[in-house]
Amino acid sequence: MKKNRFISLLLVLVAGSAMAQKAQPPKSLRLYVFDCGTLDIPDTSPYRFKKEELTSAVMSAPCFLVAHPKGTLMWDTGPVPDANFKPGGGPGTMRYATSTRPLTARLAEVGYAPSDIQYLALSHFHWDHVGNANLFAGATWLVPKAERDIMFADPPSPRTEPQNFSALRNSKTVYITTDEYDVFGDKTVIIKAAPGHSPGHQVLFLKLAKTGPVVLSGDLYHYPEERKLNKIPTTEFNADQTAASRAAIEAFLKKTGAQLWIQHDYTANAKLRKAPDFYE
Ligand SMILES: [Zn+2]
Repeated sequence: MKKNRFISLLLVLVAGSAMAQKAQPPKSLRLYVFDCGTLDIPDTSPYRFKKEELTSAVMSAPCFLVAHPKGTLMWDTGPVPDANFKPGGGPGTMRYATSTRPLTARLAEVGYAPSDIQYLALSHFHWDHVGNANLFAGATWLVPKAERDIMFADPPSPRTEPQNFSALRNSKTVYITTDEYDVFGDKTVIIKAAPGHSPGHQVLFLKLAKTGPVVLSGDLYHYPEERKLNKIPTTEFNADQTAASRAAIEAFLKKTGAQLWIQHDYTANAKLRKAPDFYE
């Protein structure tokens, strides 16, 4: 099994390097959306919905690469580690997630290796967002201290897979201490605090020139029906904080005119243009 995993990783690397030239910094902000898998939710009751009340009980699990003239930011890393893919192709799995292709191969297609990425930010620490975090251990990790603390708590939270982000322990780390963190200093890429789902849960605001402003939700909501009916899952770290964060982000959306992209919304995600295409 170990040997097979090594060979599959090697194939991914070779295929990746052959596929694309190294990307040059873009002239204006770009957002690449990667399909990092789907979640076949076994029980929707923690979301306070019956399956038949939902357009889709299955959730999408995208990853995002933000390419800015001054650098790159990876936002969430999917549920399935690249090492879980079988040699010779075929899907990879983790818990109840399935992905069709390793993230390393998807990044290579647009000219990036994980080691090229300057910043890593995770919406939060749950297993379906940190699958490939170890790939970005060489990046500068932008994280609220409360989130880092729960990630390395002993014993670890059952809501995550510590082996998938263990390498971040030694990463260059910047603690986010403000409600807004301007990643590149020009107000086009802003990490916004939205705690409640987890202690340091956050969302990402992007000011895209052609697309207009967009907020990537993290897990502020999972199903679009949660937003419509204002239902808060039973399993939040702090439901009162979630309610306050939702109110603050909804007011921010109104003020900025930004679209909210609910990352786990399967129907909405299916309509997004995926890499190698991009939003600008
Ligand atoms: Zn999630």
